[in-house]
Formats: sequence, structure tokens, C-alpha cells
Amino acid sequence: MEIDTMQFDTKLLHAGAVPDPATGSRQVPIYQNIGYVFKDVDHAARLFNLQELGYIYTRLTNPTIAALQERVAHLEGGVGAVACSSGHAAQIMALFALMRPGDNIIASSRLYGGTVTQFSHTIKRFGWSATFVDTENLAALEAAADENTKAIFCESLANPGGYVTDIPALAEVANRLGVPLIVDNTSATPYLCRPFDQGAHIVVHSTTKFMTGNGTSLGGVVVDSGTFDWSAVSGKYPALTEPEPAYHGLKFHESFGGLAFTFHGIAIGLRDLGMTMAPQNAFQTLLGIETLSLRMQRHVENAVKVAGWLETDHRIEQVSYAGLPSSPFYSRVQELYPRGAGALFTFAVKGGYDACVKLVNSLELFSHVANLGDARSLIIHSASTTHRQLTEEQQIASGALPNVVRVSIGIEDAADIIKDLDQALTKATS
Ligand SMILES: *Cc1c(COP(=O)(O)O)cnc(C)c1O
Repeated sequence: MEIDTMQFDTKLLHAGAVPDPATGSRQVPIYQNIGYVFKDVDHAARLFNLQELGYIYTRLTNPTIAALQERVAHLEGGVGAVACSSGHAAQIMALFALMRPGDNIIASSRLYGGTVTQFSHTIKRFGWSATFVDTENLAALEAAADENTKAIFCESLANPGGYVTDIPALAEVANRLGVPLIVDNTSATPYLCRPFDQGAHIVVHSTTKFMTGNGTSLGGVVVDSGTFDWSAVSGKYPALTEPEPAYHGLKFHESFGGLAFTFHGIAIGLRDLGMTMAPQNAFQTLLGIETLSLRMQRHVENAVKVAGWLETDHRIEQVSYAGLPSSPFYSRVQELYPRGAGALFTFAVKGGYDACVKLVNSLELFSHVANLGDARSLIIHSASTTHRQLTEEQQIASGALPNVVRVSIGIEDAADIIKDLDQALTKATS
């Protein structure tokens, strides 16, 4: 059966995973290996010149990592994918092919706290910058662009504010500006959202979260739709269209067409930045993905139950979850994310900062961690932890207020999750 003809749940198990050609091993083996023996010098030369595809060195390519790349590309409906050592590495990798010193991106103001920090400060060391815009204001989004704007960046389900992005609307703006729309699809996963179906051009993931789903393995992936024309405006994306001195003047777009971005990511990005995923982590992520649909279904079911219970509780001020009819984004979820709004949400506790601290300290089943997307239920008080580095203005813009906690609802029995919140809220607000 052709992979392309398979349903999503079948692809979770079969995409990228043929039985191992050397041994017949049914599960993808962990190729814990660095170098690959060349047939002869001529073979080696062809590999190094990108005239023949094959394995050279694990910083660039590895069979276990390749299986994961192929699986994620199929799940997202893209033409190719590059795995990276973390989600943050994947973000730098996605921008690396597009940006020169002096270039900028337009970023949604509702992003994961670590991404806001990466984009506000660290990328400036490369001579790049980001302008943060409220993506509900499409006119402001478009007005923020100048001739050095090279991409728009957003999250599908934004973490942690209960925000749901109108990807088709942003894709329209991106198309008018002639730049790719990059979507961080970490919180939604391709089970809840396939950004390419809605017009996005590039997807990035932190596979650390729901994709692996068990809190064991850091990783990231950049996926390319293959639909963006890098040559439409001459000289706008020189890394992809101009002669590459490190490959005897090879032009990626001319030579590899729709795969230019992916090949550049491997041949230049991984080779020279070295942010390669570990083969062991690729294996863990492949295993996790096998059960992605089953887990996400339960995550969403539980999140709806828990958020609904919290909303009616007198100790709670407000619940921000797009899966509740009270959310201003509920109708957008029905339209664009029909399988649900994910498992992350925030709620405001009566009693402010102090009550939040007591709540976090009193929970027994929930783990107080900086992670999300584990099979277990997790909680964090963003204002005092993940969003600590942000200014108060940025905290408010991203929904990380002092009286607000973020939960990542796990796949335990929902009754136990609610029971734990109930006892901890009693302690926090008495
Ligand atoms: C965790 C996360 C990241 C960063 O991923 P790492 O794997 O921790 O580097 C980026 N975006 C979102 C939405 C995340 O949740």
C-alpha cells in the first residue's frame, strides 16, 4: 500500500518505517552509529558532491533519524523534513535558510515564552530581528513588513493563552507579502491541525512535547510543504537560489526544486550548525508517534472535562480554553480545528499570585514542571517560571498573568485529575 493513500492513523505506524533492509527487523533499529563505509573513493566523492544520496556522517544523516523525518513529513503532508536536537534548534534551522544579517520576521505576540526570548534577544546576535504583532489585527501584521521581512511566524494553538490562530488568514497576508508562513505546530500536533492544508508553507515542531508524549526525549523537526517559490523575487532568498560556495556553486532551488529548503537544511544547516537529533531520541519519538492519535484524543477529552469543571467552580475566576463554548475562539476551533483545541490551557485563581503558589504546592497527582505535552498531567505558574524573563507587557500579551496557572492535561482518568485539583484548590483558597 502506498503511504500517500493511507489514512492518518495508519501513517503513524507505517510512514518512514520499512523493515530494516539488513536484518528484517520490524521496528526501526536505533542506528547508534557515526560513520558509514564508502564503497570506494568515487562513491564517497559523489556523496560529498550531493550527486548521489546516501549516508556519510550522522551529523548530516542517520537511518533512524531519516525514518522519523519521513514519518513527520507524511503526517504533515510535506515534501521533506529535517530533525533537530530540540524545538528551539528547529526554529533557528527554519530561519537559517531564509535570513541574512539585517533581515527580520514578523512574529505573533502569542508565542511560547522561550520562543519570545529567542526572538527578542538571541537572534539579534545573528543580525536578525523579530517584530511582534497581535495576529488578530491583520492590517497591523501586514503593515509591520518591510523589504527585509523574510517570514511570518506563529503557533497553531498558542501556548499558554488559550489562543487559536486563524492560519488561512495569516497565509493570505504571507502570500501578499511574498514570504513564507512558518507555523509552530507543537501544541496541536498534526492530529489536531495540518497547517499546510490551511496555506502555511513551513511547519516547526518541538517533538519533545506531545509528539514523543512521554517526557523522555528532546527534539525538533522542520517540515517543508514544498509550495513556496524561493525564486519568485530574484535575490530575496539567496541561500536557496544563489550559487553555494561550499558546494562548488550549486544552486539549491535550481537543483532540487521543491526539496531545496530540506536539502539546504541537511547539507548546510546540519552540516555547519550541527544541531542534529540524537538517534536514540529519534527512536523514542518514532515510538511515541505510533500512539499519537489515541493519546491526543484522550488528552482533548480530559481537557474538555477538566476545563468545564473548573469553569463552574466558585474558586476560579476564569478559564481560557478554546475548547469551551465560553471562549471567543470556540467557533474558530469548530471551523479550523474540528478535533479539538488541545490539552493546554490556563485558568485564573481567586486569590491571585499567592493562591497560585499554594495551588501548585498542594497538588499531588499533577507534576510541577517546565515541560508540557507529557502523558501525565502537569502544571506551572508561568509568571514565576517560564515567562519570568519577559517584561510585564509581554507577560500580559502572552496570557501569563500573576493570578494564572497553565496546565497540560494528561491521559489519566479525568475523575482523578479533577479530584486532585479540587483538594488543592481548597488548600489554596481557604
Ligand atoms: C517547548 C516548545 C518549544 C521549544 O522546544 P524545545 O524542544 O524545548 O527546544 C517551542 N515551541 C513550543 C510551542 C513549545 O511548547
